[in-house]
Amino acid sequence: MNKKNIGQKVLDQLKKEISEVEYTRYIKQLIYDDEKSKKDYIIFMAPNQLIANYIKTKYTDTIAHLFEINTGINPQININTKKSNTTGKITKKVSSDKPIQSLLNPSYTFNNYVEGGSNEFAVKASKSVSKKPGAIYNPLFIYGGVGLGKTHLMQAIGNVLQNQGKNIIYTSVEQFLNDFTRHLSNGTMDRFKDKYRKCDVLLIDDIQFLSNKASTQEEFFHTFESLRNDGKQIVMTADKHPKKIAGLKERLKSRFEWGLVADIQPPGLETKIEIIKKKCEINRVKLDKEVINYIATIIENNSREIEGILVKLNAYSQLMHADIGIEFAKNVLKEQIRENRENITHDNIIATVARELNVKASEIISKSRSRNIVYARRVAIYLSRELTSNTTPQLAQLFGLKDHSAVSHTMKKINELIKNDEDFRLKIEELQNKITASTQN
Ligand code: ADP
Ligand code: MG
Repeated sequence: MNKKNIGQKVLDQLKKEISEVEYTRYIKQLIYDDEKSKKDYIIFMAPNQLIANYIKTKYTDTIAHLFEINTGINPQININTKKSNTTGKITKKVSSDKPIQSLLNPSYTFNNYVEGGSNEFAVKASKSVSKKPGAIYNPLFIYGGVGLGKTHLMQAIGNVLQNQGKNIIYTSVEQFLNDFTRHLSNGTMDRFKDKYRKCDVLLIDDIQFLSNKASTQEEFFHTFESLRNDGKQIVMTADKHPKKIAGLKERLKSRFEWGLVADIQPPGLETKIEIIKKKCEINRVKLDKEVINYIATIIENNSREIEGILVKLNAYSQLMHADIGIEFAKNVLKEQIRENRENITHDNIIATVARELNVKASEIISKSRSRNIVYARRVAIYLSRELTSNTTPQLAQLFGLKDHSAVSHTMKKINELIKNDEDFRLKIEELQNKITASTQN
């Protein structure tokens, strides 16, 4: 097969793995650069920086993997735009004897990372590690939910150290596993060992995928031991604390706790707003405060959504020759909200409200008139109306109210409170976030 077809073939294969909308909106926009691509260095052109960034964040691993399946080589994937000159910069850094996996996303820096209460500890730990690699917290283990910024933070450490000329390997467990299997079947395990044990810093992402993979765990154990004995820094991420990763050998679990374990919690509203501002700045998108606040309230805890939202808003605004005002944004993002809220049930809402307002779930749906229970019930009704597709008569039935007008009355009361009481409004917003978070995954 010639080279030209391989790029398209990979995109066609990717098409089968993703939704139609994702494909049409992003992947279909890519053009394979036949002239400049090499076997281990693939270039696609994207129509603009936003789409390029979106694909970089979400799809380069998969694209690289698909190339590997087709060619046996796991290439570096570059998504460029006509104006971008990142290729030049990156090429210089990756000299041929350096492992290809060392490619870091250059925008994943500490500067571009918003610090807030939810990630403060992890950021401090990461900064310390970037100042004294191998010396204080080794390994550094960062854990937290999807899209909370683990990969970004880990690569920020990598970017600092790479700029000092250190040899960095950034790899996902999946890539590590592929690499291992390939070298094993090739009879080139020496090269595998050499590569991983000779780096200065090993960044390994999504460690939970080592679960139940005995032989990869074994190999990783030896790599870990060798690097740590040589005083080389290891940074790992996972979706949970090492103790909680099932199917992981005890000796690995205990070693993962030898250095420092830092968690990242879901960001609060303020932090979300700052992250959106940061993303706007990086992607040169101008949004006014109202729109930014609005986006912050509709995204879940997963910050990955932000770039997608910016791409969407930007694309629509160009298409319609319209500025991105609040009404415009609400319209464009309708679908996003629906997608996010599809999984919420009124049971989720009652459970969260009960927990947060210190009443029992059974009391919320009881006939009790005691003040705090009535309050919790009203909040739950309001949130159910906002977050689920239940109609007012359905809600009346679910909450044991007389009829739909009682629901409308509650809605009116709560809306008044939201309008007049800033603390109350924030409390409602917080509850909404907690409910959406509790229904993720
Ligand atoms: P994870 O690895 O935890 O799933 P990522 O590191 O891939 O999450 O982050 C998802 C997206 O959100 C990235 O675009 C990242 O830059 C952004 N992001 C997450 N947290 C922050 C933050 N605190 N500051 C700036 N950007 C963030
Ligand atoms: Mg990640």
